[in-house]
Amino acid sequence: MESESQVSLLEMPITVLRGVGSERAALLARLGIRSVADLLLHRPRRHEDRRVISRISELRLHYPGSVAGKIVAQGVKTWKRKTRSVFEMIVEDGTGRLHCRWWDMPYMEQYFHVGDTVLVYGKPSSMRPLAIDHPETEVIEQGEEASIHIGRIVPVYPLTEGVTQRWLRSLVWQALERFGHEVVEPWSKIPATGYMSRAEAIRRLHFPESFEEAESARQRLALDEFTSFQIPLQRRRQNLELHARALPCGGDNHLIRPFLKLLEFKLTEAQTRVLRELRHDMSGPHPMRRLLQGDVGSGKTVVAACVALMAIESGYNVAIMAPTEILAEQHAHNFTKWFSPLGIPVVLMTGSHKPGLDSKNGQGRNTAPMLYVGTHALIGPAFAPDNLGLVIIDEQHKFGVAQREQLVRKGSYPHLLVMTATPIPRTLGLTVYGDLDVSVIDAEPPGRGKVRTFVRSRGSMSKVWDFVIGKLNEGRQAYVVCPRIENGDTADGIAAVMREFELVQRTLIPHRVGVLHGRLGTSEKQAVMDQFRSGTLKVLVTTSVIEVGVDVANATVMVIENAEMFGLAQLHQLRGRIRRSPHEAYCILLTSAETKEARDRLRVLEETSDGFRVAEEDLRLRGPGEMLGTAQSGTASFKFGDLARDLRIIQDARVRAARLVRGE
Ligand code: ADP
Ligand code: MG
Repeated sequence: MESESQVSLLEMPITVLRGVGSERAALLARLGIRSVADLLLHRPRRHEDRRVISRISELRLHYPGSVAGKIVAQGVKTWKRKTRSVFEMIVEDGTGRLHCRWWDMPYMEQYFHVGDTVLVYGKPSSMRPLAIDHPETEVIEQGEEASIHIGRIVPVYPLTEGVTQRWLRSLVWQALERFGHEVVEPWSKIPATGYMSRAEAIRRLHFPESFEEAESARQRLALDEFTSFQIPLQRRRQNLELHARALPCGGDNHLIRPFLKLLEFKLTEAQTRVLRELRHDMSGPHPMRRLLQGDVGSGKTVVAACVALMAIESGYNVAIMAPTEILAEQHAHNFTKWFSPLGIPVVLMTGSHKPGLDSKNGQGRNTAPMLYVGTHALIGPAFAPDNLGLVIIDEQHKFGVAQREQLVRKGSYPHLLVMTATPIPRTLGLTVYGDLDVSVIDAEPPGRGKVRTFVRSRGSMSKVWDFVIGKLNEGRQAYVVCPRIENGDTADGIAAVMREFELVQRTLIPHRVGVLHGRLGTSEKQAVMDQFRSGTLKVLVTTSVIEVGVDVANATVMVIENAEMFGLAQLHQLRGRIRRSPHEAYCILLTSAETKEARDRLRVLEETSDGFRVAEEDLRLRGPGEMLGTAQSGTASFKFGDLARDLRIIQDARVRAARLVRGE
């Protein structure tokens, strides 16, 4: 990234620095530091304010402080037949004496010598004698060196065994002195207005004059990091616009009109607006690349149906990919209901449901266009439709970008619509999904009740069940959700669900309870879902397989066990399942979490039903990898960039990258 052309001196191996031989180089390699550039970009874990060094006499009980002084005595005491020990050294600065103690670490003795000057940082644990247990310390060499470590804000780095803080700090200092001026402005044709230069940023990352300056340095480095990330995205986008001719898929309404007439409801304004945006793309000069965001229950499926019809009207096949079999089946069910009156074939393709050859009759022959609905199975070689005009991916965050691309490559630049119910904070939208345009369904269909959410401890279980029974007696239905253990359906996980199932069954007699989990066969799952949909089963005990898409309007109560094991965005999705009816809905988050933090985190859901706020909170608390699932975490790990708060920087990077790719 350093510069466009010249090979930089910064790429020299770390051994060019004084004091780094092959042994030390091997240690540094463990920290990922191989070149001078790696060292200069080794991000401090934090900074420590050593501008003010206190007098020892000023130290106060339990308050942290930094002092510096000479070691006047030191030694190890042992007792209990040498099984216990304390290493103690006494430091004096002319105003008082400080005892530094390390319990059961006798080897500490070798690092210090009477007469050394040391810097000590910590909180006194007693005043008589004045003592700090297990302080942070550094021996200060006298002379010029000292000014690196003292009297300024100093960096504190991630370390590895055999590398001390002081040595690494001096090494960075040396590297800055010798090579700092080699740092060039990357992409210098487009100045990074409003940011410090990269050279300055690298210096201030390590040795800032103030904490604000350290933050400005981080921001500059984040800008470069986000810019590097955006460039390939923007390039992909540009390639598409230069080289791909869009298939004309705008349609002529001859199917959409009767479809909308048969539909049991009217599209909302938000849905209609989004459809206009989609039609514009589908009949435009470049293949559509669009992300459709809408909270759970906002009605994305019917929008997908309308775009699918545009392509089908235009004579092209359409594929819809969903992340789970249950969801794929539900889509197949809905779309068959909607499309069969229009004479459009709907074919289901999942791992366990592979249509025979005769139902793939679209291939190679000039028959009527059709809709394929499936899971990952659509990515496999068995799926090779002719004339693919549109690919729709539901719940995109469950898939990686690579999978998305694989499916799109099955045609000659089909249009692409990805849909997600995870409200994606803007920062993520612009990075992970940076190559997509975005449409948002920002209002939901009328007649939706609110979900009232309560956080309860396991201690109040019996009250919770009484409440559930009350609602069942009123004719409503309920979900009981158990967390999925690690990646899904391990034997332990299933056992836990089955135990819960038996317990719930006994508790709720005479109401009928069913169970749904990943180990059930497809037809069993289907049967359970059908019975729940028809109301034969009143309660469904389930793992989070219902997280996405499943739709039963009469189910208005949801009890989520061990809610602390879920992410907030995921809980928000789960409770979205019960907002589909005009009846008031209740979500009860049961938790056995002891800590206040864990409970406060869940309280966010009591307080807000705004999916974007929930997602932002989740991003702040758990980071992007957790929030988006493993499929996305790789793309979203930045060293300097912080997706929870760098929106402005990401926007700047995006503008820069676009200008760079356009060759400005
Ligand atoms: P999601 O956005 O979560 O995928 P769905 O598409 O499953 O939401 O829609 C949720 C429910 O709302 C479905 O039962 C659907 O039929 C219904 N629905 C969608 N649009 C409307 C509308 N305009 N008016 C009334 N109900 C609607
Ligand atoms: Mg959906």
